[in-house]
Amino acid sequence: ELQEKEDFPEQRKYFILINPKSGKGKSLELFNSTIEPILKDAMIKYEAFITEYSGHVMKLAKDFDHKKYDAIIICSGDGLAYEYINGIMKRADWEDCLQTPIGMVPTGSGNALSASINYAADENFGIVNAMYVLLKGKSHPMDLFSCHNSKGTVYGFLSLTWGLLSDVDIESEKYRFLGPLRFLLVGVQRILSLRHYHGTFYYLPALDDENRDVGIEQDGSNTQPVIDDVDGDSSPTAPEDIELVPKPLDCGPKCTIPALNEECGTENWKKIENEFILLGLQSISHLGSDMHSAPGVHFSDGYLDLQYVSRGTTKKRMLDLLDAFETGKHLEYDDVEQIKIKAFRLVPGDDRTGHIAVDGEEVDYEPIQGEVLPSLANAIML
Ligand code: ADP
Ligand code: MG
Repeated sequence: ELQEKEDFPEQRKYFILINPKSGKGKSLELFNSTIEPILKDAMIKYEAFITEYSGHVMKLAKDFDHKKYDAIIICSGDGLAYEYINGIMKRADWEDCLQTPIGMVPTGSGNALSASINYAADENFGIVNAMYVLLKGKSHPMDLFSCHNSKGTVYGFLSLTWGLLSDVDIESEKYRFLGPLRFLLVGVQRILSLRHYHGTFYYLPALDDENRDVGIEQDGSNTQPVIDDVDGDSSPTAPEDIELVPKPLDCGPKCTIPALNEECGTENWKKIENEFILLGLQSISHLGSDMHSAPGVHFSDGYLDLQYVSRGTTKKRMLDLLDAFETGKHLEYDDVEQIKIKAFRLVPGDDRTGHIAVDGEEVDYEPIQGEVLPSLANAIML
């Protein structure tokens, strides 16, 4: 059930971010031919911003005046939304900034957020349907999740993937010109030369044996703003009375889990030591426009949906599973484990054969952990 914010005005002003290089490189043409005419018909005021390089929105997000707009509209794929959110998270006033909802127009090749929003709205996937949601919709809360490793903290809204799923995502980058077909092509390739990924996954289950929410104890011990800065630019200075946590231990604001160099902890945590074929955490229902891989996952349910497949599943069966991922039918296979969780730690083995990705963006291949940040962001949904 989506909560609704009352204070979203009828007469709106949108700030529109356009990535001319996303998808097949047609975002700008699509904006001119399809998106702008709809905005004009609906008499929506807007300012458009065309990105010039990767990282442009991260830079822009650091000091732009979000209060001037009723929503930030992203004409691109998930990558630009990720850049925007992570740019915002470097600001001291990030919590306030995230009140301004994000809206998605799917002109990228990975459009999981738009697909999930339209699915929840009972709308077909596509640019015109997405515009309909942006015109009729309201601001609704959306969970984020933190991910931190020895380099710092990033924030996701979509997924953490390891093994087959992230390898396909990262290794298909070079086939960007194919659009979404790139995932299928590399998916089949990767299954034909199937890899196994040794490692340990720790998690905090979200539900107890009787399916009741277990909750995370909030001790308020680590609530300072994020101060790490991935690219070394200046970021807002933290007030002097806040003692800064050393960078490798800084798991960002609202952190409730043990530091990465401490033991994972309490008896509530569970551990899976395994050879995995794939492991994914999902915060929304779709991993792509034709990947309804986590049916039943909602934007603000406060959970991450853990799914994994272990060594032993045959290539033939993996091909069937890949196909079934499109509709969520893969969950009917015994090979796929599914658990609702609130926090995690992934410690990959030393074999270094694969990739780890947060929202489809590669992060370093090393231990990483994080937790759900319930309803931290907002998005325009029906
Ligand atoms: P897609 O789904 O097609 O991959 P994304 O929105 O994920 O589209 O964008 C892909 C990448 O393009 C992002 O990592 C983003 O940082 C980068 N990017 C944004 N603007 C530009 C630009 N003007 N030129 C090149 N890359 C850009
Ligand atoms: Mg969720």
